[in-house]
Amino acid sequence: MAFRVSFFGGADAVTGSEFLVESGDTRILIDCGIEQGKDFCESCMYDEFPYDLERITAVVVTHAHLDHIGRVPKLVKDGYAGPIYMTEPTRDIADVMLRDSAHIMSENAKAKQLPPLYLEEHVNKMLSQIEVVEYRKEMKVGGMSMMLRDTGHILGGASIRLKDGDGDTIAFTSDIGNSPTPLLPDAEAITDADAVVIESVYGDRANPEKEHRVEKFRDTVKAAIARKGPILIPAFSVERTQLMLYELSNLMEAGALPRIPVFLDSPLAIAVTDIYKKHAAKYFKDAAQDELKREHDLFAFPFLKMTPSREESQQIVDTKDPKIIIAGAGMSHGGRIGKWEKMFLPKPQTTLIMVGYQAPGSPGRLLQDGSKKVKIAGQMVEVRAKVETLHGWSGHADRDGLLRFADSCVPSAKTFFVAMGEPSSARFLAQRIHDFLGVRAIVAGKNEVWEVSKKGVTRQEVRGDIR
Ligand SMILES: [Zn+2]
Repeated sequence: MAFRVSFFGGADAVTGSEFLVESGDTRILIDCGIEQGKDFCESCMYDEFPYDLERITAVVVTHAHLDHIGRVPKLVKDGYAGPIYMTEPTRDIADVMLRDSAHIMSENAKAKQLPPLYLEEHVNKMLSQIEVVEYRKEMKVGGMSMMLRDTGHILGGASIRLKDGDGDTIAFTSDIGNSPTPLLPDAEAITDADAVVIESVYGDRANPEKEHRVEKFRDTVKAAIARKGPILIPAFSVERTQLMLYELSNLMEAGALPRIPVFLDSPLAIAVTDIYKKHAAKYFKDAAQDELKREHDLFAFPFLKMTPSREESQQIVDTKDPKIIIAGAGMSHGGRIGKWEKMFLPKPQTTLIMVGYQAPGSPGRLLQDGSKKVKIAGQMVEVRAKVETLHGWSGHADRDGLLRFADSCVPSAKTFFVAMGEPSSARFLAQRIHDFLGVRAIVAGKNEVWEVSKKGVTRQEVRGDIR
């Protein structure tokens, strides 16, 4: 029978993951994310989907980052009424993430006199269509069978392996975690797929800082404290924030860092931290579960204050420096971090610590690249603060981690499609997979369609809409 795979998004780009897999009458849509950073195309978000929603058998979401799930409510708004599969933690995180983004996006759209992409009612309808899936349980979806595995990327993150009636197999790695990490199990190998669609965010970059990342974090925070100013950490609400809290708690407890006030100033990150706590006993790695039994809460410590309300957030200024403020959004493209950056980046005592990927074109990337004037939330801000980047905290495997992961998929994997990376990064990883593992590696282009079976893969002439 063979699969037909269409690369509608996450091809030639890091973000906007969206792949359609067909075999016979079964059509599965893997992810439906928004594009971010320089991939972002505002008008494209409103485009009609290039496939018939009534003919989709199921949607499967790999994890709750917006570049993988951000347009699923639009699918529902546009008429998709079938099942949406994901793990239980992904559902819980999606619930808070999508409500948050529905609100932010409708504000942004209003400011530009555009209609909202979707409303909260579409998020509610979407949530009612979700069917929760366990890791490592084979299940039937139309004429295919499917299995999800842990990717160690964020809580609930999953790779997806599909099998058709003839035993042809294809897998989508989604984002692969920077394993090992303190909280989540290592990314699980995919040992049963003929073809693998692999991410390549850091396909061309090594991350040697990872090994000493806690020491580097400790030293950076210590130096920032010595400058006696505020310390701003733009937070990615999922995973990175929880890792920061976990490490700050450990370092302060051990006396390795002075005990200064820490504010988690993000309603979203606070809600996600609660979801991490809720699922810790089932989804954390064994060592973290043992720690949890001893300490009961891996994210709380006496100097931490959560400030969900606006009033509580306002009061942070009354606490004297040095203090740490962790606030979203991670690329300084919205949320409360903008308020603090406008207030504190012009002061030379301030330290801004970046702990994650900054997409080209985002305010965070400009700050990281040393810009002395950056537009934040519509206002030009002079930057006199010290800007530090800690590369070791990325939630993605680096180029060697990706190659190791690819190696763990061989010998069953005979072809790799390299996706979800900037083109140079995807090409670099494809070259290395070919050179080191001796298998075919193809950089998938946007809107390309490929036929995949045990026998191999062939490019199809079909481009564009699949109806
Ligand atoms: Zn992700």
